[in-house]
Amino acid sequence: MISHRLTQLRARMQELSLDALLVTAPENVRYLSGFSGSNGMAVITHRRKDFLTDGRYVQQSAKEVRGFRLHVTTLPLLEEAARARVFYGCSLVGFEAHALSYAQYRRARSLFPQVRFRPTTDLVEGIALIKDRSEIAVLARAARIADRVFDRVLPSVVPGATELDISAEISWLIRRQGGEGDAFPPIVASGPRGAIPHARPTVRKIRKGEFVTLDFGVSIGGYRSDLSRTVAVGTVPVRLRGAYRAVQEAHAEAIRSARGGMRARDLDAVARTRITAAGFGKYFVHSLGHGLGLRVHERPRISALSREVLQTGSVITIEPGVYIPGVGGVRIEDDLVLRAHGCRLLTASPRELLIV
Ligand code: ZN
Repeated sequence: MISHRLTQLRARMQELSLDALLVTAPENVRYLSGFSGSNGMAVITHRRKDFLTDGRYVQQSAKEVRGFRLHVTTLPLLEEAARARVFYGCSLVGFEAHALSYAQYRRARSLFPQVRFRPTTDLVEGIALIKDRSEIAVLARAARIADRVFDRVLPSVVPGATELDISAEISWLIRRQGGEGDAFPPIVASGPRGAIPHARPTVRKIRKGEFVTLDFGVSIGGYRSDLSRTVAVGTVPVRLRGAYRAVQEAHAEAIRSARGGMRARDLDAVARTRITAAGFGKYFVHSLGHGLGLRVHERPRISALSREVLQTGSVITIEPGVYIPGVGGVRIEDDLVLRAHGCRLLTASPRELLIV
């Protein structure tokens, strides 16, 4: 699988006349080399592959990184790259514009005076956008575990429990159910705090008559699932139930419409039109969804501004939401794989309003 990624990457490099690519974004290093540690750098030329890391990772890199020349060093990685002459014979070298600091860039310029460095964007990301079979299998597993965690955490969503209690429970359950860790710190937002899409859990106690939004994900082998559900604690006010219905319908319609080959903005519009028609349009304050993979937010972006065409084989979220300041919020989020004629859902937790 990794060799196929490198073939595609080299073809892209060829198009851009790059002799080498300096890969420093940790997710991209992992995607190309298999290395899961924190300090690694990959250099891909048309003939060679070099991997650089420090002494903490001597055993891990030997185990994870195959087919690369390995350089385990006590030097800063760029220094080691110079010592090992990884750009030998290269004149134009791409670097990842979003993942090389200005200080590193300056250092690279002075260490390799014979090389011209050119910023690149989305080279690896553009390949990672389409998942292969093994990636989809891992993402599906991470999604199934998220479903189990949701099911098992529900008994803890009771009046008197704090948001932090529930988030701790989620993190614990993720590990107990076979996840390697949280995909991101779980969000638990109760009552009026539900109007904050990315609320961090607090000591606030859950009360009867309010919504609680849970948003969490499971990480396996670096791949991340992402699941959100809003549940009612007892009977909630009619306006919030109306908001729930609007989100649920928008979500269902987006799932029915989603397929490879459609414009991302058109999918966003499917859900946004529904929510607007129900009178909650101005409270749907974020985009409809995003790509999932080694990052919890990656391409494609499914928003009204997106110019992307959705691709068969991408894994995305669909997560319409309504956030009414001072009142509360609703979000329903599922993960799915885009197919040529539709999509396959990876998460399967109930979408009708659960009253706990
Ligand atoms: Zn999400």
